[in-house]
Amino acid sequence: MKGVCILGATGSVGVNTLDVIRLNIESYSVVALSANKNIDRLLEQCIEFKPCYASIPDATLAEEFRKKVECSDASATKVLSGIDSLEILSSLDSVDIVVAAIVGAAGLLSSLAAAKVGKTLLLANKESLVISGNLLLEAVNDSGATLLPLDSEHNALFQCMPQGYRVGQTAKGIRKIILTASGGPFLNTPYEELANVTVEQACNHPKWSMGRKISVDSATMMNKGLEAIEASYLFNLPASSIDVLVHPQSIIHSMVDYVDGSILAQLGNPDMRTPIAHALAWPQRHDSGVCALDFIVNNKLSFQPPSYETFPCLGLAFRALEEKGTAPAILNAANEIAVNAFLARRIGFLDIPKLIEKTMSASTIVAADSIDTVLMADAESRELTTHLLAEI
Ligand code: NAD
Ligand code: MG
Repeated sequence: MKGVCILGATGSVGVNTLDVIRLNIESYSVVALSANKNIDRLLEQCIEFKPCYASIPDATLAEEFRKKVECSDASATKVLSGIDSLEILSSLDSVDIVVAAIVGAAGLLSSLAAAKVGKTLLLANKESLVISGNLLLEAVNDSGATLLPLDSEHNALFQCMPQGYRVGQTAKGIRKIILTASGGPFLNTPYEELANVTVEQACNHPKWSMGRKISVDSATMMNKGLEAIEASYLFNLPASSIDVLVHPQSIIHSMVDYVDGSILAQLGNPDMRTPIAHALAWPQRHDSGVCALDFIVNNKLSFQPPSYETFPCLGLAFRALEEKGTAPAILNAANEIAVNAFLARRIGFLDIPKLIEKTMSASTIVAADSIDTVLMADAESRELTTHLLAEI
């Protein structure tokens, strides 16, 4: 039995993780769950999985949740609150696997805490790597932790890497990696029409059902940009060895192009339960609940280059990757503020890349050599973007 802690249990990745655990319940014990606001869903999860701990960072909401827990079938679950509670949960002795499924920079410190104490870290929270890739990988190496990517593209790449490959190493014989992208809901929308797209349209992803922030990131293609940065850290590759290829069917989840002309790809139905099951069971395999890919039904796989003109966020992310240091943290923070403003209907879709570009150009990049430096870059970028937002 492996002890599992799921941070961000009530979100899309968290719920899919519990679906896979339910199918393989003899192999896992759910030790801890966390949520931000959705206490009703967290309560249902606590009643079903009976974790020892549950956390709600906000103290007032945690108190409300504690009362509900006490008069439920989950009364043995201890409720923690405070920002530190996430780090406490991810470091518990009874936890073997930490699933980092919080969205945004809010997931950084708990991912780092899990890495520092040598857990098996299943990372969906790509923002952690984008903000502090070197520091996170250093923590993994120092403690002997195992880092396994849950992001479907990176999980695919990990599966296509040579035997014995460890995250953060350069695998020999690789010419490049090819990150596939669905193209999102606006793949065929002319640039001029993007100015007026709605939040609902942006969140309506054609292939994946995900949280709202990553759905908007997919629509702007910032998601693929963040994934290029994530891949650069995970596989120790420069920007020049990372290609982005639009593949609207989302059947090939990414590919490794070797120097001998071989290309290895991982294929499957677009369903997060596959990468989640892969990482949970690794190096074994078990059921994910996902049905086998039907090649006759899916008999057309098409590919096209991404448009950097229509989706400027992709180019901005590659720029941050080239600039290194705190540039990815600045990019990420500006993006979080801009996406939140779009979701709150304060700005238009095309204002998102404009705000990020302005923030990046007005920011000073320094070496990302400590967590304090990175957190400072994150905070300053948020402040600057918020200031620029007021001018729109
Ligand atoms: P989501 O919005 O559905 O869920 C986010 C979870 O994080 C929720 O449980 C929420 O309660 C929690 N949370 C949000 N803000 C928090 C805060 N400030 N403090 C503590 N907890 C907080 O998001 P999601 O789609 O599940 O994505 C989660 C992460 O996984 C993101 O980093 C995303 O990029 C990545 N990811 C998601 C998918 C997917 O299919 N959804 C695929 C690949 C990667
Ligand atoms: Mg992905």
